[in-house]
Amino acid sequence: MQTVDYILVGQGLAGSAMAVQLLNRGRKILVIDQPIHNSSSRVAAGLFNPITGKKMVKTWMADTLFPYLHEFYRQEEIKSGEKFFFPMPLYRPFLSVEEQNEWMARSAEPLYADYIEAVYTSSSFAHVRDPFGGLLLKQCGYLSTTPYIEAVRKRIEQEGTMLYEQLEEEHLHVERDGVIYKGIRAPRIIFCQGTRTSKWFNWVPIRPLKGETILVEANLQENIIVNRGVYIVPGLHAGEWRVGATYNFHDHDPGITTEAKTELEEKLAELIDTPYKWKSQEWGLRPTTPDRRPILGSHPEFPSVIIFNGLGTKGVSLTPYFSEVLVRWMENDISLNKLVDIDRYKSVYWTSPK
Ligand SMILES: Cc1cc2nc3c(=O)[nH]c(=O)nc-3n(C[C@H](O)[C@H](O)[C@H](O)COP(=O)(O)OP(=O)(O)OC[C@H]3O[C@@H](n4cnc5c(N)ncnc54)[C@H](O)[C@@H]3O)c2cc1C
Repeated sequence: MQTVDYILVGQGLAGSAMAVQLLNRGRKILVIDQPIHNSSSRVAAGLFNPITGKKMVKTWMADTLFPYLHEFYRQEEIKSGEKFFFPMPLYRPFLSVEEQNEWMARSAEPLYADYIEAVYTSSSFAHVRDPFGGLLLKQCGYLSTTPYIEAVRKRIEQEGTMLYEQLEEEHLHVERDGVIYKGIRAPRIIFCQGTRTSKWFNWVPIRPLKGETILVEANLQENIIVNRGVYIVPGLHAGEWRVGATYNFHDHDPGITTEAKTELEEKLAELIDTPYKWKSQEWGLRPTTPDRRPILGSHPEFPSVIIFNGLGTKGVSLTPYFSEVLVRWMENDISLNKLVDIDRYKSVYWTSPK
């Protein structure tokens, strides 16, 4: 019987980061992925930004996650010879003089010093509506997600095995010390499925959060991301920009909506003062969790069945570091941070079928 060290189910951002970590350690892997064009990972604008939210505070674990992700994606670019990682400053226009003053003060705090490039007190960027100036943040940028996933896929094809199919659960035999799938044995299987569930983890509270983006053509300054209400991130081709995103917990229907298009266009008009041409619209479902933390760990009854999910709105910044955390837990017995451990949900949501 053929054997591998790991079977991975799903190759979005989660499965790709796991594959990179395992291949870098020389492990034999089989990846099963049924690519769908609107998977969360493929429609994501790929933005990473350490200062976020309405209150603009440092994101959870930013001091660990951001240095790690820069190194991770840069190394993968070198290995693959492909370009998909674009660090660049992010500009957030101020809405008032009060906000301007607040950031002048905050920029002196050591907590924010590593992330603030400059505070502008007057309009500073062409075609951006910024009469009060704005905040220029560093350690930001975007990952061009589809080229990244494709580059990792090529690596898996060369160094491991790739199966383009939906996992057929009836062909997966799970035992205490490993699994067998269609004649291939592995000590562990890792489910990196996003919002699609399998029978082993259908009790885990992954809540789909629908998001939509539009692609526009506009004459905007290259090498900068603008973000206020919506983000404007460079698209795959010069002159193209991805504008997003919406957040809708109630609509899980497949497809784009006119409501989302209207919302994004209204917010875009508030942010820039130059004409643009609408090109297309995308939608996807983000895999979120009630406490907004990822989910890592094993099935309550089958230690060889593992999950890496719950990446919510921040798959680009969370997957590099937490894929290493998961490998170190599996291979070196280094315990998981309680905030990401699946154990936190076992007592609430899991009932043994026995
Ligand atoms: C509109 C939008 C914009 C976003 N923007 C950003 C952003 O700017 N920055 C950011 O960090 N995050 C962003 N996100 C969130 C980000 O996309 C997610 O955090 C991340 O992509 C989740 O990755 P994943 O690998 O867990 O899931 P997915 O991307 O859903 O990947 C799962 C993969 O597993 C496959 N799969 C599932 N079940 C099976 C099965 N049984 N058999 C075979 N294959 C299977 C699927 O086909 C898919 O390929 C955005 C999301 C959306 C929807």
